Amino acid sequence: SEELAVRDDRRFRQGLRLSRLPHHKTLDEYDFSFQPDLEPRKVKDLATLSFVDGKANAALLGPPGVGKTHIAVALAVAACRAGYSIYFTSLDDMVRNLKAAETAGRLTNKLGTYLRPSVLVVDEVGYQPLERAEANLVFQVISKRYEKGSIILTSNKTFSEWGQVFGDEVLATAILDRLLHHCEVISINGPSYRLKNRLKAIERENDVA
Ligand code: ADP
Ligand code: MG
Repeated sequence: SEELAVRDDRRFRQGLRLSRLPHHKTLDEYDFSFQPDLEPRKVKDLATLSFVDGKANAALLGPPGVGKTHIAVALAVAACRAGYSIYFTSLDDMVRNLKAAETAGRLTNKLGTYLRPSVLVVDEVGYQPLERAEANLVFQVISKRYEKGSIILTSNKTFSEWGQVFGDEVLATAILDRLLHHCEVISINGPSYRLKNRLKAIERENDVA
C-alpha cells in the first residue's frame, strides 16, 4: 500500500504539472468568514467532486477579487488528487490558441487540448467581448464537452450578459443551453479580498507616517 501511495503521489504531481493551474491553493486556504453571503456548504458539496463524476459543470460568478479563481483552482486540485486529468486556461488564451490553430489548419488537433481533460477550467469568461468567429470556437468546445467532461468556469458577468460577451444572442443561448443543463452555479457577491489586503496595507503605512 505504501508503493501505491507513492505512485498516487507521483501521478498527482505529474497531473498538476500538466494542468497549467496558475497556483495550487486549496479550500482550506479560503476564508469563508470574509464572504458571509457565500454558503460554505455549497462549495464543500462541489468539493466532493460528484459533479465531475457526473460530467456536469460548475460556474463561479461574481465581481473581481471575491475568490472565483481560488475556488476553481481548489476544486481542480482536489479533482487532480482524485485522479482526474485537469487543464486550466483563460477564455481569451483558449480562443487565441484555437484561432491560431484554425489558421494553421490544425484546429481539430488543438481542440483536443480542451476536449481531452476530465476537467477543463475556463477562467475569466466575459472580460473581453468576443467576435462571432471566436464565439463559434467557444461553442465548439462547450458543445463537444457536453455530457462528456466537466467544465469549471469563472465569470464576472451574469448569464444574461453573455449575449454581449459572445456578440450574438443566439450563439450565447446555444452555449448556455449546453453549459447550464447540468451545472452548479455559485454566485459570490461580496467585497474584494485583494482590495481588503491593499486597504489594510495603506492604513498601516498611514499609521506609521
Ligand atoms: P477572482 O478570481 O474572483 O478575481 P481570486 O480567486 O483571484 O479572485 O482571488 C484574489 C486573491 O485573493 C487570490 O490571491 C486569492 O487566493 C485571495 N482570496 C480571495 N478570496 C479569499 C478568501 N475568502 N480567503 C482567502 N483568500 C482569498
Ligand atoms: Mg480570477
